[in-house]
Amino acid sequence: MSAFNNKVCLVTGGTSGIGRRVSERLWEDGAQVIVFGRDVNKGEQMANSLGRGCHFMPCDVADPEQIARAFKDIEDTYGRLDCAFNNAGITAQYASVADSCPDNWQQVININVNGTYHCLRHELGLMLKTGEGGAIVNTSSCAGVMPIGGQVAYVASKQAINAMTQVASIEYAEGAGAGRPIRVNAVAPGPILGGMNSNERLKASPKNTQRKIDVTAMKRFGTADEVANAVLWLLSEQSTYVTGIVMPIDGGYAAGKF
Ligand code: NAD
Repeated sequence: MSAFNNKVCLVTGGTSGIGRRVSERLWEDGAQVIVFGRDVNKGEQMANSLGRGCHFMPCDVADPEQIARAFKDIEDTYGRLDCAFNNAGITAQYASVADSCPDNWQQVININVNGTYHCLRHELGLMLKTGEGGAIVNTSSCAGVMPIGGQVAYVASKQAINAMTQVASIEYAEGAGAGRPIRVNAVAPGPILGGMNSNERLKASPKNTQRKIDVTAMKRFGTADEVANAVLWLLSEQSTYVTGIVMPIDGGYAAGKF
């Protein structure tokens, strides 16, 4: 039997990059995959190309009301949620703190921090309702483990995600009431090809591209599949004694200074 057979799994920001690959891999492993995204055409194209078992729900995670409506839809349609990958996120405009733009700060915090918080809250609520436990993976970043300059909002947002992961993991590790445990972990990817590092972006700024390679000990970009391997493991029954970790998937970026 496939690892996620008939499990109801949610992926936010699932129509591109890492989120898309995780959605496809869960679907290949038998899951009922719900994808949240803002671009309805892209989302419906994806759901049509995967077919049965993939359900796109329009949802801007910066809008708590849209999130609440989408979770009501999940509850009405499936009555349960087994796994969630909170992946939707954006980077900040490059600027030092003094030069950074408050509107951009607010946008990054709204999507990365508030979006993850509101989704997490609803995911836990639904999992607690069924009492059957579950597994959640949030998306941090290597920059949320070892900060970089020029990205104050992004670094702060990812460190907030680490904190939310740890607090929720402690609160639900034993289950609540008669319920089974809900495990909450995070992945902290290093530079990954695709998504935020599309070919066009990498070609447009070769110096920045080389810097991203140089900061890894392995001297290469990772792939969305290498992140998906870790996400699927953390969501699966293979990691039942793992909760509260922020797992670097970063080619050795966070291992030390070199
Ligand atoms: P991506 O841009 O392809 O993925 C982000 C997804 O989130 C997109 O589908 C985007 O449309 C969606 N999204 C953004 N704002 C949203 C909103 N308000 N509501 C709903 N969806 C929204 O890039 P990616 O590289 O696949 O990044 C995925 C995650 O991985 C992000 O959280 C990012 O911070 C993190 N990450 C990526 C890298 C990398 O090198 N690619 C490194 C570290 C962390």
